[in-house]
Amino acid sequence: MHPSRRTKIIATIGPASRDPEVLVRLVEAGMDVARLNFSHGSLEEHAETVQRVREAASRAGRAVAVLQDLPGPKLRIGPLRGGAVELKPGDRVTFACGLEDEGDARRMTLDWAGLPQAVAPGEILYLADGSVRLRVEAVRPDACELDAMVEIGGGVASRHGLNIPGELSDLPSVPEEDLKLLEFGESIGVDLVALSFVRSADDVEEVRQHTRLPLIAKIEKPQAVVNAEAIIRASDCVMIARGDLGIELDLVEVPIVQKQVIALAGLHARPSITATQMLDSMVSSSRPTRAEVTDVANAILDGTDAVMLSQETAIGSYPVEAVETMARIAIRTEREAPYAKWNEQRVSRDGRDPAYTIAHSACHAARELNLDALVIPTLSGRSVRLISAHRPNVPIYALSPGRETVRRCSLMWGVEADSMRRHEVTEELIADCAVRAVELGWAKRGDRIGITAGLPSGTPGTTNLFSIQTV
Ligand code: PEP
Repeated sequence: MHPSRRTKIIATIGPASRDPEVLVRLVEAGMDVARLNFSHGSLEEHAETVQRVREAASRAGRAVAVLQDLPGPKLRIGPLRGGAVELKPGDRVTFACGLEDEGDARRMTLDWAGLPQAVAPGEILYLADGSVRLRVEAVRPDACELDAMVEIGGGVASRHGLNIPGELSDLPSVPEEDLKLLEFGESIGVDLVALSFVRSADDVEEVRQHTRLPLIAKIEKPQAVVNAEAIIRASDCVMIARGDLGIELDLVEVPIVQKQVIALAGLHARPSITATQMLDSMVSSSRPTRAEVTDVANAILDGTDAVMLSQETAIGSYPVEAVETMARIAIRTEREAPYAKWNEQRVSRDGRDPAYTIAHSACHAARELNLDALVIPTLSGRSVRLISAHRPNVPIYALSPGRETVRRCSLMWGVEADSMRRHEVTEELIADCAVRAVELGWAKRGDRIGITAGLPSGTPGTTNLFSIQTV
């Protein structure tokens, strides 16, 4: 357990970390959320990984959430003869669109037939995570083809993503395939769902009609940056997906977007995740660079709730060391975080929602009265999310009758969660919070804890009470 660490760690599970023993070590090292990237791997593998994460979490005695990351409307080239090709500046490539058959360095297939209608000569295309740049030379919509010339060369492998920074209004925002994967994710018990290439709040609302799982909007398109506030309000959480963001926008914009999105998420009391290349050199080295350590620390000082590992844990040689390193950076950096300022200024309470005011007051009281902890009973997780967003300087303990809610709290800054019975009488709920806190080792006799509650009891969204109890 890592009660002293408040920033949450998300680790992407892949070939380097699917092994049950490695998963246990990842949980022990501090993994709070296991991310399954549905752009890769088979459905059977993902189902098995969920089982293995559950077993690892119960062996380590910690709540770990599973995050399903949906591919979204990402364009991909088809398979390439030999698996990969090398493109040189000046090479010409024809893209045959709406096909999936094998291609080579001169002719590649692409899974979306609409591309020749959507781009014009002169526009830029990126392959291989932005490292290969091409310029469109000719489009032949009738033949479903386009020609492009390589401006910056490099290696391209089968099924690599293709990025087009412009607005592709004809591209479906929520592909049918994502909805099928979502249904599959629910059937194997994922806890959280991330949506890729979101462009507007409508994209989030559309998926919301198909699931009750919490939705994480990934900010990685220029349009999503413009619409960030509405997207955040429509979502349960937001991710600054710096990988695709750094292709679709000028790279130098990424740090600023990161700071702006984290601040906006805080304003609306939504958790934020900072993702991609945080400890990238640890894919092949047991030690990170100074710049990477500083990047993780800066994201924490920006106010991010969670930091995410991708390749480092999915395919790297040091997955456990990467999680341990992140945990160590977080523990050290959090000592410098401006909690008092965050408590007052981070969240907007302009909506006159009593739950926000109770959350703010509880965090203020914890500091002013030197309380030992805040214990938050919660049905949906909302009241603990609001407490977490105000960044109290004491531990936040959440108690819920719902196992799913307990696991979802794994993503929230500073929150440790466990189960409790459902109560219909508020006095009994408050008394049981103190009992459970002692049982779970969260509090000892004589401690003073703050407890929030709602009247009428048992109804989500009614937090309107704050009580201080001596255990
Ligand atoms: C990203 O682009 O930074 C990201 C997190 O998404 P993916 O790993 O799916 O590319």
